[in-house]
Amino acid sequence: MDDGVILKGNAAVIPKLLRAWYIDKLHDGHQGRVKMELRAKDAVYWPGMRNYIESKVNACQPCQFTRPANDCMELTPDHQHPVPQGPWQDVSTDLFYYNSHNYILVVDHYSSYVFVYKLTGTTSRDVIEILMQLFAEHGSPITLYSDNGPQFDSREFANFAARFEFRHTTSSPLHPQSNGIAERQVRIVKDLLKRSNGNDAFYRGLRSLRSTPLDAHLPSPAEMLLGRKVDTLPRRACGGQPNHREQLERRREQQRLNFNARFQRHTPVRAFDVGDPVLVRNARANEWQPATVVDKHHTPASYIVQPKPAREVNPPETSDGETATEDRMHTPPAWRREAMPLRRTAQMIRPDPVRTRSGRISRPPERLQY
Ligand SMILES: [Zn+2]
Repeated sequence: MDDGVILKGNAAVIPKLLRAWYIDKLHDGHQGRVKMELRAKDAVYWPGMRNYIESKVNACQPCQFTRPANDCMELTPDHQHPVPQGPWQDVSTDLFYYNSHNYILVVDHYSSYVFVYKLTGTTSRDVIEILMQLFAEHGSPITLYSDNGPQFDSREFANFAARFEFRHTTSSPLHPQSNGIAERQVRIVKDLLKRSNGNDAFYRGLRSLRSTPLDAHLPSPAEMLLGRKVDTLPRRACGGQPNHREQLERRREQQRLNFNARFQRHTPVRAFDVGDPVLVRNARANEWQPATVVDKHHTPASYIVQPKPAREVNPPETSDGETATEDRMHTPPAWRREAMPLRRTAQMIRPDPVRTRSGRISRPPERLQY
């Protein structure tokens, strides 16, 4: 038992009522029996699950229609590339066309993690636009492999490779299969598109591909590239990957201390009473506006204020000339010139009456006279 869930090994034992629902989930992406079992491993279990999976696959129409393509797919050789040292070093890309749309596919050789994007066109510029975003998120690979398509065989693409600092290798006529890894993934993704009825099913299927262990001894593409699961099946604490939680907690605590220190140095907290004159920040106009405190708001350090209409703002009465002190700020006096340059962090959220986030006040530097 773990938190009220019955386990077999690490897998949650699924009650009868939920089994059909989990079978559908396991079949996202219309993967076959073996892949479904790999995904279920360490996630879900019930007696007779294997038979359940088998009859699901046999009864699924889209699976039946595309089965031959699926079978010969496994025969495509892609061993021209040596196994890379780690993720995102060797990456292949290919373009394909399906149902009146152009797509670009990018696959990491190490993890088999696949990226698929719709293209608006097939020029170098269109392809670069996608790859730039991808390489900004995941970094540039060491080598990008592609075929000799015109969009890859251009000066523009060569410049892109130079600017983003990766090696670009195109398949040679002598080795037309050297883009085999990408071509194989294109077939898998095309099959997925054929079997998926709409974007929703397609993207869930893609997530399923990324969540399925490569085989009985290797984790899923997501775990190999991203270091985490992207599955939505039940899971227990994922071991193995370095956990940064403790250091993140320390960092958060430090940020809190830093913030408090700054806050106390520059912006003493103050309370207001009904009738106090204040300056509130008008976010839209990006300026400070005189107002009067009308009521306290129930959220911390917040007040309801009534802004003064611009024409009613009179020049504040000149005071006896004494400078404002910290003490005075805590016992707000009548409107006076010294009060004008007070910097407040009140935020005007709604007009009339206005809820302000407030309580903070500080003197601007120019008041520190030399
Ligand atoms: Zn299916």
